[in-house]
Amino acid sequence: MATKQKEKKPLHLAKMNIKRGDTVLIITGKDRGKEGLISRAMPQVSKVIVEGLNIAKKHVRPQGQTRQGGIIEKAMPIHVSNVMLKCTECGQPTRVAHDRRPSGADGKMRSVRICKKCHKVIEDRMRSS
Ligand SMILES: [Zn+2]
Repeated sequence: MATKQKEKKPLHLAKMNIKRGDTVLIITGKDRGKEGLISRAMPQVSKVIVEGLNIAKKHVRPQGQTRQGGIIEKAMPIHVSNVMLKCTECGQPTRVAHDRRPSGADGKMRSVRICKKCHKVIEDRMRSS
């Protein structure tokens, strides 16, 4: 079996570039090359859940009359280093830079994510205003 590298993370909270509502490309594992929407971001563990991808099948047995037995499919968290953010402007998977620019409806200066490929602001679809 290939050596699996264990990640020893520093205790400080690594800021994730990926947020809920983003589209990402999976770059490793069995779902490599697939794209999906982030349904949950878990910055504490640097993981994200991609809707419909990295599925684990769980076998459950029936319980009484309410729960049917069978196979439940559940999206498992995936490490952010295994996905690439897709730019909302140019549609390419990209690394992310940060900048302060006027953004949002009120045009206030905000810290935004910048696509390293087209240098435009990557939209934050879930921004609560
Ligand atoms: Zn771009």
